[in-house]
Amino acid sequence: MNRRRFLRAVAAALPFLPAMCAYLLSSRRALGTTHSMARVRPGDSAWPSAGSWDRFSQQVGGRLAKVKSPFAACLEAPSSADCARVFKAVRNPYYLGDEVGLTQSLGWVGAWTSRPSAYAVMAESTEDVVAAVNFARQHSLRLVVKGGGHSYQGTSNAADSLLIWTRRMNAVTLHDAFIGVGCEGQHPPKHAVTVEAGAIWGQVYDAVTTKGGRYVQGGGCLTVGVAGLIQSGGFGSFSKAYGMAAASLLQAEIVTADGAVRIANACTNPDLFWGIKGGGGGSLGVVTRLTLETHSLPQFFGAVFATIKATSDVAFRRLIDKVLSLYSEKLLNPYWGEQIAFRPGNVLAIAMVFQGLDQQQAEMTWRPFFDWLVAFPEDFNVVEPLRVLAAPARHFWDPGFLKELPGIVLADDRPGTSKGNIFWASNLEEAGQVLHAYQSAWLPASLLQTDERTNLADALFAAAQHWGVTLHFNKGLSGAPAEAIEAARNTAMNPDVLEAFALIICAAKEPPAYAGVPGHEPHLEAARTHVEAVNKAMNEVRKLLPRVGSYLAESDFFDENWQRSFWGPNYAKLLAVKEKYDPEGLFFVHHGVGSERWGVDGFTRVP
Ligand SMILES: Cc1cc2nc3c(=O)[nH]c(=O)nc-3n(C[C@H](O)[C@H](O)[C@H](O)COP(=O)(O)OP(=O)(O)OC[C@H]3O[C@@H](n4cnc5c(N)ncnc54)[C@H](O)[C@@H]3O)c2cc1C
Repeated sequence: MNRRRFLRAVAAALPFLPAMCAYLLSSRRALGTTHSMARVRPGDSAWPSAGSWDRFSQQVGGRLAKVKSPFAACLEAPSSADCARVFKAVRNPYYLGDEVGLTQSLGWVGAWTSRPSAYAVMAESTEDVVAAVNFARQHSLRLVVKGGGHSYQGTSNAADSLLIWTRRMNAVTLHDAFIGVGCEGQHPPKHAVTVEAGAIWGQVYDAVTTKGGRYVQGGGCLTVGVAGLIQSGGFGSFSKAYGMAAASLLQAEIVTADGAVRIANACTNPDLFWGIKGGGGGSLGVVTRLTLETHSLPQFFGAVFATIKATSDVAFRRLIDKVLSLYSEKLLNPYWGEQIAFRPGNVLAIAMVFQGLDQQQAEMTWRPFFDWLVAFPEDFNVVEPLRVLAAPARHFWDPGFLKELPGIVLADDRPGTSKGNIFWASNLEEAGQVLHAYQSAWLPASLLQTDERTNLADALFAAAQHWGVTLHFNKGLSGAPAEAIEAARNTAMNPDVLEAFALIICAAKEPPAYAGVPGHEPHLEAARTHVEAVNKAMNEVRKLLPRVGSYLAESDFFDENWQRSFWGPNYAKLLAVKEKYDPEGLFFVHHGVGSERWGVDGFTRVP
């Protein structure tokens, strides 16, 4: 709206202002809220009294806790054995997930450090969530929601907040014929699974695939939370076949800012339903339960690994060209997903997965590429030879089966924990990490056309001179079945994902460190160098793009164009959904929908 139109609109509204103000005040009173410009912190006069906390604790059946971070031991005594134990423990993603005061990443240099909330509700039911939402609203508290705790952006922790922790809400129920509430007669029954919000994908795959013999589209990492991933959009290894995880959502139960428990599906509250499919977690309400469509399993899932080092820049450039041709001619289809990395030192690392092919078919796909490589021994050194593994699809997430394969998974090593607590060995480095930089961009499939492929190869080569870049093919939907693309179109995600053949990711991190603990401080100088290298690498690639869309869950904390990057043309509609269901901005996360109305820590409203 230009200035003149804005002034005209204000003038037209003037006669109605008293009535509008009265309406707003009464609706705020009805919600039990006074519209404040600031949320309260411990020590503020408006902070709830001890008696209020006690009453609230009783209301949630005693499931309210004062939160202390395990790092308190380190801040008090950095050289103590207790502190050493904490730094060892944070290499285990299950330990991190089970600690109310921790998150999977411990921070991001210059962006955030994982901080415990003042209090947490260890929610076991929707009623606990409703009580927490009402209490936070009535007392103007900074509210945070945490499921799996994997947010790279640090959006599931905040000092001085009340945390709703869904970890204990992890029931999983399979259905043979699910129909959403209000969809009777409009939508056919579907095979589905209902999952409580705090479940992690490993638990869901165990119930749906290992025990149930079916497929559900979730994430790659086994310890990521279900509700966080679905609201991010969500990609798993086989998303090129089954689509975005959020696109298979059939129904959700969600507690909105007014404390109402709402059903969201295609027939009931469809705007909210659309918004939680990729609109980002922690912004529209607290999801308590999700129902996702399931599919029949293919016969096999499998993986292909290899690492090649080119002996010169010229050879590396040729190698990049060759692998891009292979990708566009043979792998850009629903059978193939996951990653190829281009690293400094002229290294190409292949870690791909496939579905619906057997081992021989997968080998035949790659054989000509490897025959070509060995024909030039002076140019290419095969550091890790081609390995093709295929297994019955039902075993792909089966802890018993995977533990027998060397180097594929690691187990939760705490005494007495479930034998099913496994994680991919490749995720070890991410447990307790401190990020230095993380950037991503969707690459349109047009870049693979013969006339543009040279530019892409040049850009990847130039990028890899600065820092490693990885193409995540399963995080772009070009090459996926038309139904998967159509279903993704009907979500809040940036439509750039529909035409992208891959998401390129470039990131840098360091092992567990914690600001304020001498001897374990994050490495600021290294972080600065890494940020520069990542910027330079991604700039080489961004030059090719008419606009940069990026995956909100795997993106830059400092992206100034986050609304455009994460949601593109969908942002305006998403903001309208936020206005409707959370007009006061109870839910705030960094770079979440509507967060531009708040200061960086979410405590003060921007006037
Ligand atoms: C090691 C690792 C591997 C990853 N792998 C993948 C991958 O393979 N594919 C992929 O798509 N993404 C991946 N991600 C990104 C991940 O999907 C997102 O960070 C996701 O949001 C994490 O969800 P969570 O519940 O684990 O995290 P949390 O940090 O608990 O939550 C993430 C956000 O969602 C909000 N939220 C959580 N639960 C709820 C709820 N019940 N209601 C409302 N809001 C809620 C939180 O407030 C927070 O803002 C990965 C991240 C990590 C760290």
